[in-house]
Amino acid sequence: MEYDIIIVGGGLLGCATAYQLAKRKAGRILLLDGNEIASQASSRAACLLTRARTKPALMELVQETYDCIEEIEGMLGESLELQQCGSLTIASSEASLKGLEALEEAATRFGIPNERVSRERVKELLPWIEAEAVDEASYMPTDAFIDCALLCSGYARAARMLGAELRPNCKVRCVLASGDRVEGVGLPFTPVRSHFWITGIDKERFPVNHPFTVIPDARAFTRSDVGALIIGLRESECQAFSPDTLTDKLEDFDFNKAAEWKVLDECAPLLKRYLPDIDDLGIAHYMAGPSCYVPDAMFIVGPVRKYKGLYAVAGCCGGGVAAGGGMGRLAAELITGEEPFVNPALFAPERFGEIDPFDAAFQKRCADARSNKKGG
Ligand SMILES: Cc1cc2nc3c(=O)[nH]c(=O)nc-3n(C[C@H](O)[C@H](O)[C@H](O)COP(=O)(O)OP(=O)(O)OC[C@H]3O[C@@H](n4cnc5c(N)ncnc54)[C@H](O)[C@@H]3O)c2cc1C
Repeated sequence: MEYDIIIVGGGLLGCATAYQLAKRKAGRILLLDGNEIASQASSRAACLLTRARTKPALMELVQETYDCIEEIEGMLGESLELQQCGSLTIASSEASLKGLEALEEAATRFGIPNERVSRERVKELLPWIEAEAVDEASYMPTDAFIDCALLCSGYARAARMLGAELRPNCKVRCVLASGDRVEGVGLPFTPVRSHFWITGIDKERFPVNHPFTVIPDARAFTRSDVGALIIGLRESECQAFSPDTLTDKLEDFDFNKAAEWKVLDECAPLLKRYLPDIDDLGIAHYMAGPSCYVPDAMFIVGPVRKYKGLYAVAGCCGGGVAAGGGMGRLAAELITGEEPFVNPALFAPERFGEIDPFDAAFQKRCADARSNKKGG
């Protein structure tokens, strides 16, 4: 069988791209994954679909994901269980207040509902929070979260319905371009450890689907779905891994052996202001995984010029759940020659010039992109 397009990787980015290409009837599409579809990073995310971003192009990409969810639900005739819980971004310092104002301005310009709320309202929305620690808070009621594996399999099933072929458990060993082996593409990203903790269930304190929070002053985000609190913490020196050390299956990789472990010492005291009994909260689960960061915290979508016909959709910067639909759309538009809906130069794979992804200094630049991230 011959194919017009072969996609390597059946995570959120590969499946969203397959869906967007199949929707455009771009040709015969084959998607290959060395593991099960939706089984790797795309089953480990905190699942936040944060709409407001200070960079307008990112808001376009996220909006496209929301649009895809609606379309796919219509096609499959089933719910992907988007949970519109809203979000609260909290500021307790001058620097984070500036960030909050910039975010509100961007949201308003893009038509995302947002309102400044009082401490009393914050307490109503988040029974667990120490409201006195909150100086200002912005509520964005249309923010949501979604089970990332369900979203990924939604893209995959919709792509299959539109004619794409999916082949899980089929690892690609090399790619040939006009008879030559494609070697050393050198894409500008590095896997960086992302992680979160989940408390035991306490539905009164952590009501099901209360707003997720972004608390830059604590380097934290939180959310709840089943009545437990998910707590994500971002250390000031995030840990990168050399891409050649990762195993074929994430379950075989020990993120904490491979990286320093200082995050709780640094971030838990910061969060204590908002969650005073954090030291005594029972932690039921811990989740770690790789997010692939790019030095400028923007994604990689576009042609790899060295090899005609090779495109990259990668470097999710911890946002593949939120932006995957838009990244897939941009890739599909570039592949089919349509007018791109966002400026592709922002995401061009070669925008950093020649880089060596195995160089420790380059990996540190990527890790710093996560360390400096303020949003959800
Ligand atoms: C702890 C954590 C929290 C996160 N929270 C959020 C969040 O709240 N919001 C958000 O938007 N994003 C979040 N993310 C990021 C999100 O999970 C990623 O952006 C997304 O999963 C990336 O999808 P992917 O397709 O690039 O990667 P993957 O899901 O890892 O898919 C890549 C696929 O490629 C396959 N593959 C690799 N090599 C080969 C080969 N040679 N041959 C065949 N197949 C191959 C793998 O088997 C894998 O299935 C989080 C990530 C983590 C780890």
